[in-house]
Amino acid sequence: MLCLTCQRVRPALSRTDYTADRARLIVSRGLCTCRVAPVQRTATQST
Ligand SMILES: [Zn+2]
Repeated sequence: MLCLTCQRVRPALSRTDYTADRARLIVSRGLCTCRVAPVQRTATQST
């Protein structure tokens, strides 16, 4: 559950990951921010 790099809580992958213990960890440790920032969305939608 914890990031090995920053020792913070990694973002949940599914709804089942949102537990009380997880929430507590996030409050105490914070969320992992190692993930690459969201790619800037460009207007490439063809619809
Ligand atoms: Zn991290």
